[in-house]
Amino acid sequence: MSPTMKRIAITGVKQTTLLDVPIPQPIQDWVLVKVHAIPLCTEYKNWLNGSEYYGHEAAGEVVMVAQPGKVNVGDRVVVMAGAPCGKCTLCISGEYIHCQHMHDPAEFTGVAYGGDTHVQYLLKQDWLLVPIPDDISYTRAALACCGLGPTFGALENMNVSATDTVLITGGGAVGLGGVINAKFRGARTILVEQVPYRQQKARELGADLVLSPHDPDIRTKIMAYTDMRGVDACLETSGNVVAQRLCIDMVRRRGKISLVGECGNDLAIQASNDFIRKGISLMGQWHYNLNGAHKLMQVIRDSPVAEQLITHVYPMNEIQQALATCASQECGKVMILPWEGVDQ
Ligand SMILES: [Zn+2]
Ligand SMILES: [Zn+2]
Repeated sequence: MSPTMKRIAITGVKQTTLLDVPIPQPIQDWVLVKVHAIPLCTEYKNWLNGSEYYGHEAAGEVVMVAQPGKVNVGDRVVVMAGAPCGKCTLCISGEYIHCQHMHDPAEFTGVAYGGDTHVQYLLKQDWLLVPIPDDISYTRAALACCGLGPTFGALENMNVSATDTVLITGGGAVGLGGVINAKFRGARTILVEQVPYRQQKARELGADLVLSPHDPDIRTKIMAYTDMRGVDACLETSGNVVAQRLCIDMVRRRGKISLVGECGNDLAIQASNDFIRKGISLMGQWHYNLNGAHKLMQVIRDSPVAEQLITHVYPMNEIQQALATCASQECGKVMILPWEGVDQ
């Protein structure tokens, strides 16, 4: 009988279980990582509607390789998302997240959960593993996934610096991570969020101005805060069309906007008034360029408030409570420790 491990699975609406499944085997450049921290992301949406998912965030230790490669057994690493090809122009330039030739991890590894990170052992291509400095814990380092990653990438692309004011719409874990990243650069930050818990958290992380989207004077207040010019850059993390419009209206002439929050609805845009006359740049940001991972690790190490983004840490057997916490919106980044609370 092959050795087994625990794997998180959704079994119905607001129902989970821990399955015992065989530990997958490393193959080619896919190495075996013993997972020590699992940050939760959007999985609570699957939990709420009872649909299956595969996790995409983790940090852990390389424990087995199939061939010599970019990592060694014993390396501590953060696991990047997806199963990109590693050969196309996007992959080799660090923009792997946009690869057009993603592997099917199940097909490649021979196991259905071959690409899953909500497990005790996962498989990942060696080049998608970012080294963790010795003095950074697994949970803290795991903020290099979606906790701090997408907004780091957005601020890099928008060249945000200490002379800028950044408007952040949405105060979930990604938006709060945006506050940390923007403050690390010395920028002034305005956060728009309605949940009181998140508003308070944003203040603790250093947000300079926190506003409710329902404040009837929100536009006046943002303009007054920027000497009637408008903000220099926007991080839209809510995935809400009203917030997207707020960003377009509040950004200054020649300003920049990054759309980070996923959104299935149409945003109405006027080419002349919104873009040409104002001269703004509107870009999409999913994650960050892998070649900048060492800079993000520096933020994680040196930001005095980075660790405060992690508001809840649960043992593996309390996955139900962890997902409920995510769904409550009264949290920052929620993490699972896959070796706590279970038989080892
Ligand atoms: Zn590729
Ligand atoms: Zn994520």
